[in-house]
Amino acid sequence: MKKVRTRFAPSPTGYMHIGNLRTALFEYLIAKHEGGDFLLRIEDTDQGRKVEGATDIIYNTLKMVGLQHDEGPDIGGDYGPYIQSERIGMYKEYADRLVELGGAHYCFCSEEEVETQRKEAESFNKAFKYDDPCKHIPLEEAKKRIAAGEPYVVRQTIRHGGATHFDDEVYGRIEVDNDVLDESILLKSDGFPTYNFANIIDDHQMKITHVVRGNEYLSSTPKYNLIYESFGWEIPTYIHVPHVMKDEHHKLSKRNGDASFQDLVTKGYLPQAILNYIALLGWSPETEQEIYTLEEMVKAFSIKRISKSPAIFDIDKLTWMNGMYLRAMSLEEFHALCEPYLCQAIHRDVDRKAVSRILQPRTDTLAQIAESVDFIDTLPDYSIEMFIHKKMKTTYEISLTSLKAARKALEELNDWSTEERIHDLLLTLPAQLGMKNGQVLWPVRTAITGKQFTPGGAIEITHILGKEETLRRIDKGIEKLETEA
Ligand code: GLU
Repeated sequence: MKKVRTRFAPSPTGYMHIGNLRTALFEYLIAKHEGGDFLLRIEDTDQGRKVEGATDIIYNTLKMVGLQHDEGPDIGGDYGPYIQSERIGMYKEYADRLVELGGAHYCFCSEEEVETQRKEAESFNKAFKYDDPCKHIPLEEAKKRIAAGEPYVVRQTIRHGGATHFDDEVYGRIEVDNDVLDESILLKSDGFPTYNFANIIDDHQMKITHVVRGNEYLSSTPKYNLIYESFGWEIPTYIHVPHVMKDEHHKLSKRNGDASFQDLVTKGYLPQAILNYIALLGWSPETEQEIYTLEEMVKAFSIKRISKSPAIFDIDKLTWMNGMYLRAMSLEEFHALCEPYLCQAIHRDVDRKAVSRILQPRTDTLAQIAESVDFIDTLPDYSIEMFIHKKMKTTYEISLTSLKAARKALEELNDWSTEERIHDLLLTLPAQLGMKNGQVLWPVRTAITGKQFTPGGAIEITHILGKEETLRRIDKGIEKLETEA
């Protein structure tokens, strides 16, 4: 059997669209599942869309998620160059050959002529398809005009009548009447190929066996197959994938403000969690398993289980999955990720690793950290009603009694080095006061954080804040209850 070879062929637009990254992942999984090669090719023939630094974003993203390519512009390979703008001369040679083979022709029409036909089609509400008079120009005459310096493009020639079909691995048999296929430009007047041509030449030259790409290319694929046939080349296996949607009707699109891969990372999502989540956008594994390492995905992946119905990007599900990844880490790993966020959010001298410890069970994205720990620097101006908690069975009176008792006990504690001492101390109070644990711990936590929800409880936070600050905050709580309740 031939070695499976797939390619990720992004255009350098300056960001990594989630749908594109999913395509890259599927290509990687298809190749690696069969022990094949995964290539990176940069499709930059649309020079007008070129963005500075865009290829670095592509390399960095692949690196961050661990999709290591076997060949590509940065690492070379036997079938380079892997950047289309460096392959220009070759496209022209193939275009000329295709003209000789009858699969294309030289076209001298001006843009105005094409526009006139387009407008006419529009006025009749007809789908536009350029009927190119140039395809009737005898080849020898066309060549003479080119030699005389007349500007030209190369257009595909599509014979009238009949139909072209192919079998897509996801969408099944696709059949299109040849008469609806347009005679697209393959080579522009500046010598640059269009996607319609470059994809075929490159995929053939790079020995690509499986082409994975968005389903927007589904209807053009018959056109591409006609070119493969003209050259007598083997047609690759096609795997067109449905769009990643924002909701039922809208595509996820960076242009409409939806998050790119980098945006998600900035929002505190882990590259591995993003990759895991997007694997499930359109691929359904055979089991209920949802959390996968890349290696596990490689093993489990099967083209047969790619769905043709559009997948909806559910940020809540990603957030959940991200939380699962964060919780599965060692405290050391988690703390290393939190550190930059903690350094920004906390200016008080506290044990930041202890803060990470209380954050880990309750953090779904790193971007939540700043808000979760904001009370450490500054006690917010909280309302006295927060001392009342129905389930904890607290009242103003109970809260005041508890705070006073806690203050007294904590004031006497000099060894603040471990949480255990604080734990033991605070948990002797309920029995002494004839109360339930919550009737002491809730008021203490309220007084020292001023928040309803916090990572960690009264004991852990008391330990983190230290003696002086804890007592100061408890005093404030006592004062509040004495004056406002
Ligand atoms: N450069 C094309 C894109 O970014 C690639 C499509 C393909 O994979 O063939 O949409």
